[in-house]
Amino acid sequence: MERIHVAVRARPLSAEDTKSTPWRISGNSILIPNYSNKFEFDRVFGEACKTEEVYRSKTKEIVTAAVRGFNGTVFAYGQTNSGKTHTMRGTANEPGVIPLAVHDLFHIIQQDVDREFLLRMSYMEIYNEDINDLLAPEHRKLQIHESTERGIYVAGLREEIVASPQQVLDLMQFGESHRHIGETNMNLYSSRSHTIFRMIIESRDRTGDDDSSNSCDAVRVSVLNLVDLAGSERAAKTGAEGVRLKEGSHINKSLMTLGTVIKKLSEGAESQGGHVPYRDSKLTRILQPALGGNANTAIICNITLAQVHADETKSSLQFASRAL
Ligand code: ADP
Ligand code: MG
Repeated sequence: MERIHVAVRARPLSAEDTKSTPWRISGNSILIPNYSNKFEFDRVFGEACKTEEVYRSKTKEIVTAAVRGFNGTVFAYGQTNSGKTHTMRGTANEPGVIPLAVHDLFHIIQQDVDREFLLRMSYMEIYNEDINDLLAPEHRKLQIHESTERGIYVAGLREEIVASPQQVLDLMQFGESHRHIGETNMNLYSSRSHTIFRMIIESRDRTGDDDSSNSCDAVRVSVLNLVDLAGSERAAKTGAEGVRLKEGSHINKSLMTLGTVIKKLSEGAESQGGHVPYRDSKLTRILQPALGGNANTAIICNITLAQVHADETKSSLQFASRAL
């Protein structure tokens, strides 16, 4: 299996962040004075970098592989306000990884005259270990099932057939608008939930050639997951109590499990028959088919170099390093 691709993206300082850390980005490393670790990654993107460049560096390849039948997952990891949603969803001026991937996907399949494609999308969130369908707001607390025919799947999750990039983006917009939460609480809420955007790519050979239609490659189904993770900041640090603490501990548990799963995969545990604890969180269980095996996985670790967030940034870098 190919190892996990780990990129770091430093966002520009925001208006309130007057002081920057003395840390330096040098090539694909981050150097921290008086700190024994040197953080080195597959790619490090500085503050001036645009999402398009982040997309092209690895996700594009994962999208292309998904069309050829290989499952793929791309995560945005980082504390709240580090730029995860900016990276994944983006803005009108700077489209995120999701719209860039969707446009590419449609473009690639249009070029492939030998195969006939069917694209479906789903959009879900995991909040407090509950799986909610963002395309069908009445579908809440969905369960994960497993069958020989379908593998691991979320029972009842809507899969909408899509025929154009615009249709996908409209459905995403619909999903966002139906989250049961007011505008003002949106940032707080989104920082506490994982959002999984998924494209299911099915294709069949249409050359009419008997040999190939009988082969196992005649029909291919693969999934592409683009995941905007919950904020990685620790509950303890924000002085959380009650409901907030419960949310925090669920988030910590699923991000910790994700970290362990990714570390095990990068160590090659799965191919050596070792245990990978996918079942320890809904997030990893749902993503299991698109993490192990011959799936492609990438992490975009979003950070800020603002001095006030130095500790949090350091722990994000530690998380990302464990995946290498
Ligand atoms: P997160 O999803 O990690 O909580 P957001 O993506 O919502 O963070 O980013 C927080 C704020 O910072 C938003 O207003 C966003 O537009 C801005 N921001 C984040 N990253 C960038 C970037 N690379 N360039 C410009 N603005 C950014
Ligand atoms: Mg966000």
